[in-house]
Amino acid sequence: MFSSAGRALLLLLLLLLDCAADRSTERNYEYTKYHPMPEISAWMQQMVEENPGLVSSEVYGTTYERRDIMFLKIGVDQDGVQKKAIWMDCGIHAREWIAPAFCQWFVKEMLLRYKTDKKVGEMLNNLDFYVTPVLNVDGYMYTWINESTRLWRKSRSSPPESCSCPGVDLNRNFYANWGMIGVSRNCCDNTYCGAKALSEPEARAVTEFVGNRSGEILCYLTIHSAGQLLLMPYGHPQIWAPNYDELMRVGQAAVRAMGSVHGMEYRVGTSPDLLYPNSGSSRDWARLIGIPFSYTFELRDKGQFGHKLPEDQIQPACEEAFEGARVIITYVHDKAFHNRTDIGAAGMAAALWTSMLASCLTTMLLV
Ligand SMILES: [Zn+2]
Repeated sequence: MFSSAGRALLLLLLLLLDCAADRSTERNYEYTKYHPMPEISAWMQQMVEENPGLVSSEVYGTTYERRDIMFLKIGVDQDGVQKKAIWMDCGIHAREWIAPAFCQWFVKEMLLRYKTDKKVGEMLNNLDFYVTPVLNVDGYMYTWINESTRLWRKSRSSPPESCSCPGVDLNRNFYANWGMIGVSRNCCDNTYCGAKALSEPEARAVTEFVGNRSGEILCYLTIHSAGQLLLMPYGHPQIWAPNYDELMRVGQAAVRAMGSVHGMEYRVGTSPDLLYPNSGSSRDWARLIGIPFSYTFELRDKGQFGHKLPEDQIQPACEEAFEGARVIITYVHDKAFHNRTDIGAAGMAAALWTSMLASCLTTMLLV
């Protein structure tokens, strides 16, 4: 029916259409802008529709103000077989807008690389990625109301009878040495840990979903700003993760990779060593229930703009964070599926060594 030249032309046309379809993910959405919640929800729907068999979404909880808490599940369906998984959540602290921007960037990058990067293809065959772009939906929407609400951090739940301020610090509300250290019992404080562990529906939603899959989830990444840190368990200064050395080794490779992208300094360690002690964090809870790799990313910057990171820094911040996440998930994948525990070429290729002996943060940020 077609001549050989015609077939070649047809093949070229199909390749161009395929390529254009891949790039539509990038073209139709501005990943270098901050987006209000309705736009992020529409983007999630778009990801599902554009990537059948690869992306799906699920509501796994409801916020205090009765909004859906949703993730995107990214991975090649293996005929219903329960795969190992990676967890990533963003926006547990409402004002840290670079975090939801990164979750969206991460999804975009994984989908773009799926067909061109063999390693990403292999990981999406073997693993499912559960990515929650905005966990604290009520708080995030509150920060979009006006400039006076922009720096809200907590959830939006009603205060206890004896107090007048709404909201709980969701990252102090998990069942992990809850209420022991680095928290406030005053409901008006930014680190108020709630009346009891898991008092908040957002923390309960994560606990239920992830807790039911603790044997499948190999890695738990929770994304925050600011301070340029990679924090590992535990927030309590007297408790050490049994795989502390491995967490540190992988974390060092990740911060080297992050530093190599744009020359920014990131440091890895526990929260008490780098920042301050705390308890009730989701990162600590994930490690306590047996998820071997658990990290908190504190993205840009070091205090100049803090949580109001300008939009022109979204791209470089996300590019370097993606490299850090890529090093960690590649290690986790290769350990589980190839029994490899060397950091590998990806982790060692970082051009700049980020010193572990760097000076302490000059600007203290509540992150
Ligand atoms: Zn935070």
